[in-house]
Amino acid sequence: MTIESQNPYASPLVDESSSHLYQTGKCPECDSADLTRPRFTNWGGWIGPWFLRHVICQNCQYEFNFKSGYTNKTNIMMYQVFSVIALLLGLASLALFLAWELDWIG
Ligand SMILES: [Zn+2]
Repeated sequence: MTIESQNPYASPLVDESSSHLYQTGKCPECDSADLTRPRFTNWGGWIGPWFLRHVICQNCQYEFNFKSGYTNKTNIMMYQVFSVIALLLGLASLALFLAWELDWIG
């Protein structure tokens, strides 16, 4: 048996073998300069796209990080995981605080 070398979940957009020459302000996929920065996204609300420097190419709809030119897919996933963890931690600390305030514990 051989270990699978191909990752079936890898994005076809990410080609790690090719050199990544990114010119700021242009789409790394189609070279178009017609980019928009969404103010609000479903995955990150208002903070997410700002935080990840998220831009969308109007020509080919490629979504990427304006600073690096790389796709933001991984960052978006991490952002969502981080948001959920932050929310849970916030709720947990709030619950602990309330429990302590109301003398349920301690
Ligand atoms: Zn493009």
